[in-house]
Amino acid sequence: MRVLIVEDEARLAATLQDLLEMDGYTADVSHDGESGLDNALTSIYDVILLDVMLPKINGFEVLRRLRAEGNATPVLMLTARSEVTDKVQGLDCGADYYLTKPFEPRELLACVRALTRRSPELRNTETLTCGDLILEQSTFTLSCAERSVRLSRKEFDMLEMLMLNQGLVLTKEKLLLKVWGYESEAEDNNVEVYISFLRRKLEHLHSRAKITTLRMAGYSLVQGEDPA
Ligand code: CA
Repeated sequence: MRVLIVEDEARLAATLQDLLEMDGYTADVSHDGESGLDNALTSIYDVILLDVMLPKINGFEVLRRLRAEGNATPVLMLTARSEVTDKVQGLDCGADYYLTKPFEPRELLACVRALTRRSPELRNTETLTCGDLILEQSTFTLSCAERSVRLSRKEFDMLEMLMLNQGLVLTKEKLLLKVWGYESEAEDNNVEVYISFLRRKLEHLHSRAKITTLRMAGYSLVQGEDPA
């Protein structure tokens, strides 16, 4: 389960991240509305925690644009303000739940659990496919016809990103951010290393799918040609 935290107060964001990670979630942080929206639109998250007062784009506007793009990821709005009008505005924008700061860690975790249980996207994405490849999200198993391999956590995260964006170019920075997160000390060459691991696994599986490199741009997963 992957959670996106969009919160500009660095200490609160770090606390939320620790709390969620201790509870077994993978959590990424965006510190302003613009990067939050950008990350949210990748559709890799199971839940989004969204602050209202944010630099660049406020939380209500982030949510409105997210829903306007057809993204249905459950959103839990966080705000220090408790006025009823804010709550109404949040729900009008398509928020699934509203939590007023300060809140109890247990209360937050209960909300996140409730929202992931009813996530409709989750049920639809138990397997991802690309051409002859099938990625099972519950077991991290990648298969092609009769062959299958188990992926490591990082390999899985990276391939999942590529499959969700197949045919599109993903930059190294984007992959780095998605797989290792903001706070990590991982560098561009970590991406190269994991791309080479994944390529070896695709070869081992005899898949026609390929991860292509676009010089100076990034990587793209393509289905490959049907044999003539
Ligand atoms: Ca704020």
